[in-house]
Amino acid sequence: MTNDVNLKNFDSWLKFLNKERPICIAGPCSAESEHQIMETAKQLKNITELTIFRAGIWKPRTRPNTFEGVGEKGLPWLKKVKNELGMFVTTEVANGHHVEKALKNDIDILWIGARSTANPFVVQEIADALKGVNIPVMIKNPINPDTALWLGAIERIHSVGIDKIAGIHRGFSSFDVKKFRNPPQWQIPIELRNYIPNIPMICDPSHIVGNKKWIEEISQKAMDLNFDGLMIESHFDPKSALSDAQQQLTPKDLKKLLDKIRIRRLVGEDDKLNNTLSAMRSLIDDLDANLLDTMEKRMKVVETIGMFKKQNNLIVLQQKRWDELMKRNLSISKKKGLSKAFVNSFFKSIHQESINKQSKIIND
Ligand code: PEP
Ligand code: MN
Repeated sequence: MTNDVNLKNFDSWLKFLNKERPICIAGPCSAESEHQIMETAKQLKNITELTIFRAGIWKPRTRPNTFEGVGEKGLPWLKKVKNELGMFVTTEVANGHHVEKALKNDIDILWIGARSTANPFVVQEIADALKGVNIPVMIKNPINPDTALWLGAIERIHSVGIDKIAGIHRGFSSFDVKKFRNPPQWQIPIELRNYIPNIPMICDPSHIVGNKKWIEEISQKAMDLNFDGLMIESHFDPKSALSDAQQQLTPKDLKKLLDKIRIRRLVGEDDKLNNTLSAMRSLIDDLDANLLDTMEKRMKVVETIGMFKKQNNLIVLQQKRWDELMKRNLSISKKKGLSKAFVNSFFKSIHQESINKQSKIIND
């Protein structure tokens, strides 16, 4: 995959970024009322010295009949934040009409949401509406883990003359959701950065985790992977929020979190080496998570077999079956370059745990 994205004006875009401390963009999921916007923005400015304020005006909701945003009547509230508090303001646009209204109301930075990035027709419509306007645009990853689709959206926006572009990593939809609402799949933003090395990459832990208790964990990981900043949802009264109430932090809690996050120094001066190391490590983390998922599934099957053995009065350990299984696995692993000693001890440990589980079931 090649691309011709050349972010020439990177330095002027970087003026938004505090180089000592990564940038933080915060604000409520949705603009709900003038009072909610002003109160949240004031607290963010006073408590965290925040400079970029976010709020969704038009909300893309997965299901209808939920709060879909206040619409354009909320734009003057953002303008007020900009004029009275001196903050940069940003909102999501999902069509040409949104772009037109946002520009008319002096919004400083636009962002394209995950559902829009996944649709090239929508991205093209937004790009067409932006012709001749060099406003910074942040592009969220598409909801599906497809680096080419993300890169394609960046290329479409870049092709109309916009060169202040940042990526926002907000995780990817998954059928098998467990801990996180949108699992991060870190290899995707890392791969994107391999194609466009100087693209600022911002992590949105709020939409990755879906619950405020894990925002710190993901924020720290993003910093350890050398992301340029964070976009975190914050509401002055999260429990009353009309959307994403569970994942929003009060400005005070956001401040606590930002103070806790460790910004580590890079090992040596060579960014490229460090990025590569982090990329490789995140691949290991993902693979380990897969291993654990597989173990969990394996142990469930072991339990089912245990019940079956109990009902049919069969013994737990069937030596012949174990010998066959080991013989087959050793032969497969030899071709994969895995050592015999390692595979032996690995499977013995799994087998021991399986026997323990089945013995318990049979004797219960
Ligand atoms: C949002 O930022 O509030 C939002 C709707 O995000 P996403 O596009 O990542 O779902
Ligand atoms: Mn949200």
